[in-house]
Order: sequence, then C-alpha cells, then structure tokens
Amino acid sequence: MSSPEFLAASNRLTVDLSALADNWRTMNELSGKARAAAVLKANAYGVGVTEAAHTLYAAGARDFFVASVEEGAELRPLIPDARIYILAGMWPGNEELFFAYDLVPIVNSEEQLAVFMAALSERGEYPCVLHVDTGMNRLGLSFEEALALASDPARPASFSPVLVMSHLACGDDPMHPMNVYQLEGFRAVTAAFEGIPASLANSGGVFLGNDYHFDLTRPGIAVYGGEAVIGAVNPMKPVVTAEARILQVRTVPAGGTASYGASVRFTRDSRIATVAIGYADGYHRSLSGGGVMLRQARASGAQGFLHGRLVPHVGRVTMDLSLFDVTDLPEQAVRAGDYIELFGRNVAIDDVARAGGTIGYELLTSLGRRYCRNYVGGV
Ligand SMILES: *Cc1c(COP(=O)(O)O)cnc(C)c1O
Repeated sequence: MSSPEFLAASNRLTVDLSALADNWRTMNELSGKARAAAVLKANAYGVGVTEAAHTLYAAGARDFFVASVEEGAELRPLIPDARIYILAGMWPGNEELFFAYDLVPIVNSEEQLAVFMAALSERGEYPCVLHVDTGMNRLGLSFEEALALASDPARPASFSPVLVMSHLACGDDPMHPMNVYQLEGFRAVTAAFEGIPASLANSGGVFLGNDYHFDLTRPGIAVYGGEAVIGAVNPMKPVVTAEARILQVRTVPAGGTASYGASVRFTRDSRIATVAIGYADGYHRSLSGGGVMLRQARASGAQGFLHGRLVPHVGRVTMDLSLFDVTDLPEQAVRAGDYIELFGRNVAIDDVARAGGTIGYELLTSLGRRYCRNYVGGV
C-alpha cells in the first residue's frame, strides 16, 4: 500500500522488488553453470541497499560485491551469513574493519598484497580475492605480477585466495575484440591459479555467453533493469520508476519564450507543465530540452510520459523545476497535481540517459534525497 506521504510527494520513486528479484534470477540462469553474485555498491545503484540486499538474498544470492569497506560494514548486518567482497580492497589502517565485519578484500595491486600479507601474518587464515588486470587498466595486479605470485615458493600456506577475478572493459559491446583478448588473458591467469574459482563477467559479460561465465558472475546494472548490451533490446524488467508532480500548467502564446536564458521559443500557442524535478534530484541539466545547447547534450533532450504519451522537456532543467510541453495532450487532460513519469515503466531509463549524454548507471546512482520511495512486491 502506498503511504499518504507517497501519494502527496513532490517527487517519488517506485522500486519494484519483484522485478529486481526476477532480474537477478534471469542473470543467474543466463550464467549457466556459474553462480551469479549481486553487486550492491553505491546504495545498490541508488535503489536502496537495505531492500535490495534482503530481496536478492531471498532470491538466492549469496555473494555480494560493494565498493568500499564502509559499504561492507553497512551491508553486513543485513545479510549475516553471505559473503561480502570489497572491490576497493584493503589499505593500511582499515584492516580491522575487514575482520570485524567479516569482509573479503579484493587485492588490486602489489601494495595491497603487501598490506594483506602483513595482516594475514598477524591473523592466520583469511580469505581474499586476487584481481588481475587483463586490459581494463584500472585496478588489478598485472599479468606478470600475478604469474610471479602463482609460482612464488615463499607464498605462505595460509595465503589462499577464494577467487581470482578480472573485469571486462567492453562487455557491453559483443563485437568488440577486447572481449576475446581479455578472455584469453584471463584463461592464462586461471591456469596459473588452478583450483581457485574464477570470475570475469559483469552484466554485459553474462550476455557474452558461457565462455565468459567461469564460476561466479557479477551482474549489476541488468539486475536493476538497465541496459547491459548496447544496441540490443533490453530483456530486463524495469525496477525503478521516477515520477514528479506538475505544479502548474501555463499557456504561452506563439513567439513567447520560457526558462532561464529564454532558452526555448515557442512556434505555436503552447501549454507548458512546470514539474517539481530538477538537477538537485539527479535529473541532470544535460537532459534539457531541444535547442538548449549544453556541452555534449543531444539536440532533442529528454521526454517524460504523461496520460499515455511522451511529452518533451523544454528549456533548461533547473535546480528544482523542469518544463514539459504538453500542448499535444487534450487541454482538459493535464492538471496541476498530476504526476509525470520521468523514467521507468513507460520511458526506458536508458533512453532518458542517452538524451542527456549519459548512461542509466549514472541516472540511478545520482537519484537525489528528495524522492519519496515506495518499495513494492518482493520475492
Ligand atoms: C560495478 C562492477 C560490476 C557490475 O557491473 P555492471 O556493468 O553493472 O554489471 C562488476 N564487477 C566489477 C569489478 C564492478 O566494479
């Protein structure tokens, strides 16, 4: 049931936890013989880590990735017996947090390996993940460093990684030659660490097929309903629907202008809905409507969805307010108080993102604090 706050909110999010669970199950099935983990970094891609963790655990996930040890500490009480991996890894001063919250560090460099080994010698056995770079050049031991480690006779017996992983640079582009290049590199790594489970695929990688799945996949964006493969039909269910309230409907005669900078001039008599959503809510300024020239912005701008049809954004997105042209809807249909969908069930989040020169990941993770959130469904 929707709360009175939700029914009256200026802007609001509906998070469909059934869709979230279904998307994870889909990714788990597509992972074939591999297990699917779940990626909960950045407040579960903006969706809400508490609800996402409970839902995905109930759906069957037992391996969870977050970015930082702080995120791991927040996640631990929500899923007491799951394995939680920390992508940023360990550095001097935060070792105790790993032990206190039972978090598995990902070892991303020689420096982090030294920090982990020192902690290990004090502590005895402790799990870790070895991250080997195969072409992304962001984090990870180099191929040479990894091979040297694999054959190092001085490696203590207590050093027993539970996973060896790498990350794809172009998993969203099935035809990109980097995929095969990284796959071959990663196979050489797994051969050097025989017997240790392996993980390569993010969401895009899951769609690349069985060769890329190894033992554990790490889908993020697809579980949250976003596009994982560019240029393909997105098979995932939308999870997040964002809506905002129309505060006023105005009439502007042909030749009139609106918004900061008088940035839109109307060529016909127009009806304009002023909506309670702005860049402070993560509705980025680059989504501004047609004719507003901002760096990298497409000429067309974003569209919303109102009473069964798409309506274009016009003028500039401002901090708290946006304008939509509702002239093409019947005059009586649009009223102050109506909610316009910004993205979700009827407008794909990735279409809105594209209009602003960005990606669904960024729209989700920049959702502001003003949204009233309503969680519906579940496992
Ligand atoms: C964020 C992240 C993922 C998830 O990627 P998606 O593209 O969202 O599926 C997987 N692995 C690593 C290392 C990541 O940082």
